[in-house]
This record gives sequence, structure tokens and C-alpha cells, in this order.
Amino acid sequence: VPIISAQHLGKTYRSGKLEVPALRDVTFDVEAGEFVSIVGPSGSGKSTLFYILGGLTSPTSGSLLIKGQDFSRLSDGERTKLRRAHIGFVFQRFNLLPTISARANIELAHDIAETGRPFDEALLSKLSEMLGIDGRLQHRPNELSGGEQQRVAIARALITRPAIVLADEPTGNLDTRNSDAVLSMLRESSRELNQTVLMITHNPEAAQIADRILHIRDGRVLRIEQGMGRLPET
Ligand code: ADP
Ligand code: ADP
Repeated sequence: VPIISAQHLGKTYRSGKLEVPALRDVTFDVEAGEFVSIVGPSGSGKSTLFYILGGLTSPTSGSLLIKGQDFSRLSDGERTKLRRAHIGFVFQRFNLLPTISARANIELAHDIAETGRPFDEALLSKLSEMLGIDGRLQHRPNELSGGEQQRVAIARALITRPAIVLADEPTGNLDTRNSDAVLSMLRESSRELNQTVLMITHNPEAAQIADRILHIRDGRVLRIEQGMGRLPET
């Protein structure tokens, strides 16, 4: 059974009399443990698909099965619960709380997820080492570089051991060197923890880190191809 099954997803935004079709008949499956990139130009519907996959917005048509459960038919409360239990988010703008330390940001994510498990210090050590942020955890976000902030954000997403990680342009604010490092680390840590990753990007080279690449244009799936599973050599 695929961990994610998108069936004929459609989304139309309405503002007054204007109807903006953002997604049309989007169908694809993702197997557990797979790393999938979603690539397309600006306005192609990537963010809309991300919000639907994350249960942050509902599709206007079609269905989304997460672990066999129809996400699009759940109540808002049920969807929030499922989201917190199974999904970790990484955003382009890092979205760390600025007034508290990196460590406190990661601990907060654990508290919000209400997993019922104690905070996993061993996992934090492992993640910090893997991501190269041990020694940086006492710092507040504005004392860290962009690349470090994004690595903290990845640790925050992974600390709850979510089955699915959704990353929206995770390297959009990083230079090439930091971007390559962050992509490789996201790939490594998800492999290590056997997590399914869906990453949105408009960068075709970054997309190659995935097992499969889903190209979208004008709200439709244009084609699905194999990724290299690593970054292309430059
Ligand atoms: P991408 O992330 O690939 O840039 P989006 O999903 O943001 O694409 O947008 C897809 C289309 O839907 C675009 O035409 C965009 O202008 C439109 N759109 C996105 N969000 C809204 C919204 N909240 N209201 C109306 N139109 C929207
Ligand atoms: P980014 O490029 O960082 O994803 P966007 O400019 O695409 O940011 O979108 C920022 C926010 O505005 C999103 O919540 C998106 O849904 C919304 N949005 C995008 N396009 C439109 C639009 N045409 N009308 C209304 N809201 C939109």
C-alpha cells in the first residue's frame, strides 16, 4: 500500500466572480521511504499541492489517502491530529521562533506533536551530528547562518519521527554550497530514519536528489521521471 495516494486532486480558488484553477486531476502514489521531488515553474500549483498534502487546505475535488485514510474526508480536528502524528514540515523561510534557542525550537516541536513519548535526547544527538549543528544548539536563530537555521529546521521536523516529511523550497533562501549540504543531509537523515520525503522545488538540479521527480505545469502532472538519488556533479 502506498503511504500517500493522490487521486484526481483538483483545487480551484474563488475570489469574487473569478475562478482560478490551481490543480487539475493530479494523480500519483508515493511508496513508504521514497524521496519525491515536485518540480514546476512559479504558479504551476506546487504550493497548493503542498498545502493539500499537509492537510492545511482541502482539495475541491478528488481524494488524498495518507496511510490508507482519506485525508480529504476528515474533520479539521481529525486532520490536525493526523498531521501532527505523521507529518514534519520544512519551509523556505525556516520559520524558527526567533526569541528562543535552536534547541528550544526543536523541543517545542516535540511538545506540540503530543506523541506521548518523552523527548528523545539520543535522536537529537544523532540528528545534530548528522546535520552538523551540535555546538550550535544553544544559539538563537539570528546567531546562526541561513544554512545552519535550515539544518535546525530539519532537526525540528525529524525529532518527532514523522513518517512523512514535507519540504517546501527548503533551499530557496540558501547559496549553492549551503543548499547542496542541506539537500544531502535531508536525503541522508531521511534514509537513516526511513522517512518518506516530498520536496517542492523550482530547481531542476536540486530535484535530482530524489528517487522520483514529479513535474507539474499549469496544475497538472506533466510527467514523472526517475531521479538520480544524488546531486548532479558540476
Ligand atoms: P506555485 O507554488 O507553483 O507558485 P501556487 O500553488 O502558489 O503555485 O499557485 C497556483 C495558481 O493558483 C496560481 O495561478 C496562483 O496565482 C493561484 N493561487 C494560489 N493561491 C491562491 C489563493 N489563495 N487565491 C487565489 N489564487 C491562488
Ligand atoms: P512563495 O513563492 O513563497 O510560495 P507565493 O507568493 O506563491 O509565495 O504565495 C504566498 C501566499 O499567497 C500563499 O499562501 C499563497 O496561497 C497565496 N497566493 C498565491 N497566489 C495568490 C493569488 N493569486 N491570490 C491570492 N493568494 C495567493
